[in-house]
Amino acid sequence: MKLLVPVKRVLDYNIKARPKADGSGVELAGLKMSMNPFDEIAMEAAIRLKEAGQATEIVAVSCGPAGNQETLRTALALGADRAILVTCEADVEPLAVAKLLQALVAREQPGLVLCGKQAIDDDANQTGQMLAALLGWAQATFASRIELQGDGAALVTREIDGGLETLSIRLPAVITADLRLNEPRYATLPNIMKAKKKPLDTLAPADLGVDTAPRLALVQVSEPPERQGGLIVPDVAALVDKLKNEAKVI
Ligand code: AMP
Repeated sequence: MKLLVPVKRVLDYNIKARPKADGSGVELAGLKMSMNPFDEIAMEAAIRLKEAGQATEIVAVSCGPAGNQETLRTALALGADRAILVTCEADVEPLAVAKLLQALVAREQPGLVLCGKQAIDDDANQTGQMLAALLGWAQATFASRIELQGDGAALVTREIDGGLETLSIRLPAVITADLRLNEPRYATLPNIMKAKKKPLDTLAPADLGVDTAPRLALVQVSEPPERQGGLIVPDVAALVDKLKNEAKVI
């Protein structure tokens, strides 16, 4: 079974995001970019399925500017067999990514798409769900355990508000990875070297018949309001007075 793993290139999670001076977006110039952490987890899940003999090939996909090649090379160094870059100029919205992935699924015919549960830049948490809907496939989001069963089904444990939920889904399906699914490995130096020779194809959205024009207009990006400083009160009576007369429920 072939696995398709979409990986997004995002501002590294160690870097504090700041708005651009004109508020037109988040400043990315000169800053470290990395694979979305949940996609590293999805990639690790794919590699483990292949290592267990339950998958035959892992194809990593990224939609975005040419710099995304670097993220795909990381995916190849981790264990993907092939990579596909769908070159898009600007940021692609989740629906457009889902449509591009839908077209790639038609080409590649994977048995499973393993996404991250959300990208840490837009926090949209939409792409996997939209892709499953477009394909008419089963979906299991926020997976913390995946067990492929021999009969074309998978048991997926999901993290939900009240605890854990285990679903049995039929393949092909879309599964999105949550934090506790696994601990991703690091790419070793020999594998980083080998990854340079692995195939990386480039496509344009038009090759897949998808219009990626944005449907949303970004109005403004700004810093959250600064936290107001704390106040030390002289005694309990003053505290009670402030709670009574000044404190507000937000
Ligand atoms: P989002 O819906 O934006 O929170 O993203 C959820 C997941 O969809 C990510 O963790 C990735 O697996 C995938 N994804 C989103 N955007 C892209 C992209 N531009 N290229 C490849 N995969 C993406």
